[in-house]
Amino acid sequence: SKLAQHSNPEKLASELSILDRKHLLHPSTNPKAQVQHGPKLIFSGGEGIHLHDMKGNTYIDGVSMLWNVNLGHGQKELADASYQQMTNIAYASTFYGYANEPTVRLAEKIAALAPGDLNTIFFTSGGSESNDTAFKLSRFYWQLRGYTEKRKIISLRRGYHGVTVAAQRATGIDAYRNFSGSIDPDIDNAKAHLTECELGAKDHPEYEGSIRSIIEKEGKDRIAAVIVEPIQGAGGVHIPPEGYLKAVRKLCDEFDIHLIADEVICGFGRTGKMFGVDHWEIVPDFMSIAKGITSGYAQLGGVIMKEHIRDTITEYDDMLAHGFTYSGHPTACAVGLKNIEIIERDGLVSNASLMGQELEKGLHYLEDKYHFVTNGRTKGLLAGFDLMEDPKADIPFDGSVKAATTLVENCYERGLLIRPFDFEPGMNIVAIAPPLIVNKNDVEKIIQILENALTAFSQKLKN
Ligand code: PMP
Repeated sequence: SKLAQHSNPEKLASELSILDRKHLLHPSTNPKAQVQHGPKLIFSGGEGIHLHDMKGNTYIDGVSMLWNVNLGHGQKELADASYQQMTNIAYASTFYGYANEPTVRLAEKIAALAPGDLNTIFFTSGGSESNDTAFKLSRFYWQLRGYTEKRKIISLRRGYHGVTVAAQRATGIDAYRNFSGSIDPDIDNAKAHLTECELGAKDHPEYEGSIRSIIEKEGKDRIAAVIVEPIQGAGGVHIPPEGYLKAVRKLCDEFDIHLIADEVICGFGRTGKMFGVDHWEIVPDFMSIAKGITSGYAQLGGVIMKEHIRDTITEYDDMLAHGFTYSGHPTACAVGLKNIEIIERDGLVSNASLMGQELEKGLHYLEDKYHFVTNGRTKGLLAGFDLMEDPKADIPFDGSVKAATTLVENCYERGLLIRPFDFEPGMNIVAIAPPLIVNKNDVEKIIQILENALTAFSQKLKN
């Protein structure tokens, strides 16, 4: 590797650390700790499910970095696709009616993969831009149909939809949602609960805070869309109750409100189906995608829309005043095409489903062995579990234990990178989402490291 060729890797690492502290502000990082201590890890390379750092350590990438590196690291075919496209034409705009081959081909491919008549895509550079775009196109659609008051977006507590101003307000995780206090008053509904109430009657005890109650209170004429992740990711891997998405689809139909499925994590095989909604056989009006569309090898996202939406929007006989410089970036689209080709060729969607079952077995084994491990859940390779002092009595760990963070730190010391979620009092969730290329041995290795880390954690509890 390049690092090995460097005469003094240690010197290089400390040089980068100094420069990082001086010149880089990191996303989703404690800035004070960052400036004091420098970066926790400086990655130097990776192949498959493994990452290497500058100190010569190797880690299993247990959450595919940000749930996006679905094909794993060092995929030469993606690098080749990128190289070929860049040498052909590095960049071409899709503004003003311009097109290029990879962008059009990828649009066609995604239309073929997406459920129902989700046949048209608007490309973006990532997930937040996709959700902002979905909100705008939903409102634009209603305006074109004469419903100028249909503007509000309903979203769920613990939903994560990104950090641009609109996506931030739809996000139901307080730290993100309230950051810098920026407000779009029409997207201020991240208060709906993920509740079985949507499945049934009005006298359900959780009616307050349900999507239905918000629609009935606000009035359907003021609501443009409901946005949900098929499975919530950054909110702590929450799989909805069976029938939930179908019920929300029905609600949206009943009240003439768009349903936006945020497939930014779930899309492209992560959950053992091509898209998360495929588990529940619903067709949303809009579907936001990003991350797995290129396995993180290039920045790309998009919003896919149903035909009736496209038909209404395309009646508009003036400029559609929305677009990103990198909407449909040819290199990113060429990488996306190759990425999907590999996912299909190598059967990675069914591999995610099969390996998800192995992961589930492993989590059950850990639950049996450690009384404080509970609520293990998987859909394909999107998995999580809770740590609780006494799950049977529903007693969480005291905040001072920092259970999830401690366990994740224990895993880190043993060569596994995973993620803790503890943004609510009493919450100690650990997420696991390895690349879709994992095999049985890899999953066993992950469970083995978790087991060792849990043993160390339980010993610390006793002391
Ligand atoms: N939606 C979901 C479900 C996500 O998980 C994320 C990113 N974690 C986003 C949207 C935002 O995507 P991006 O960071 O690419 O803007």
